[in-house]
Amino acid sequence: MPPQRLLNSPVRTIAFIILFLLFLSMPLQAQETAAPIQVKQGEIALITLTLESDIPSVVGKFLDQPIPFFRKNTDEYAAMIGIDLDQPVGLQPLTVTWQKGETTVRREIAIEVVSAAFATQSLKLPKGMVDLDPPTLARVQKEQARMKEIFDKSADQKLWEAAFIVPTEGKVAGTFGLRRIMNGQPRNPHTGEDIGAPLGAPVLASNGGKVILVGDFYFNGHSVIIDHGLGLFSMYFHLSETTVKEGETVIKGQAIGSVGQSGRATGPHLHWGVRLNGARVNPFSLIEKKLG
Ligand SMILES: [Zn+2]
Repeated sequence: MPPQRLLNSPVRTIAFIILFLLFLSMPLQAQETAAPIQVKQGEIALITLTLESDIPSVVGKFLDQPIPFFRKNTDEYAAMIGIDLDQPVGLQPLTVTWQKGETTVRREIAIEVVSAAFATQSLKLPKGMVDLDPPTLARVQKEQARMKEIFDKSADQKLWEAAFIVPTEGKVAGTFGLRRIMNGQPRNPHTGEDIGAPLGAPVLASNGGKVILVGDFYFNGHSVIIDHGLGLFSMYFHLSETTVKEGETVIKGQAIGSVGQSGRATGPHLHWGVRLNGARVNPFSLIEKKLG
C-alpha cells in the first residue's frame, strides 16, 4: 500500500480513535496525581512518602525553606511542613528530591494553604502604655534580634520522640493567630497559645531536645526555647522561674520551669509557641500528629 493510501485507510481511523481515547483519559490521571493537600494557616502537615528502603536522604523544599525528611519506617520517609499564620492562601509546591542510584528523582506535591479565619481584636489603651520609651525600645529591639538569630540553626537530626505533650494543665484560651489592633494600629498577631494555669504550676518540655535559650525578656518575661531538631522549636513564655540552662539536653516531660506572669502578662498563664522551619504554627497541631 503506498503511503498516501494509508492516510485514508481504516488503520488511520482506528489510530485516531485510540489517540482520542488516550487524550480523554489524561485529565483524569492528572487530577489524581495533583490533588493538593489542604493545610490551614498556622497548622502543620505531616507528609509521608513510601520509597525504597536504601535511599540515603530525602530533601524537600517549600517556600524557599529546606524541609528535611526523616525515616519513619524502613521504606517510609516523613517531613512536617508548617504553614505560617500569615501565609497567604493559595497553592504552593513542595518539591521533594532524592537519589536513586545515579539519578536524581524529583516529585512535586501541591499544598493548598487554606484560610484559618483568625479573629481580630481591637484594643484602645492609653498612649503611654502602648509606646515604649527609648531605652525600653532599644532593649526590645536587641531582644528581637537575639530571638531571630537562634532560629537560624537547628540540630540536623530529630531529637523528639512521638508524641508531643501539652506542657501544662489548664484552660486553653484558643487565641492562636488572633489579629491585634492597638489604637488603630495593627500589631503582631498572637503567635502561640495561652494556657491559663495557677502560679507555680510545673511547665514540662513538650518533647526531647536541646535548650537553646533561657532569658528574661521585656514582653515574654522568663522564657525557655527548646530546639527539637530539623527546624522545630518550642517556646515557653511568662514563666515565674526557669530550671534549665542553655545547652542542656531535656527529655519529654522534664520540668523546665513554672507558670508565671512575668513580662507583659495580665495573669498567670503559659504562652506556648512552636516554630517549624520559620513558620509560626499552632502548638496544638503538633499534638494531633502521629510524628514517629
Ligand atoms: Zn500568649
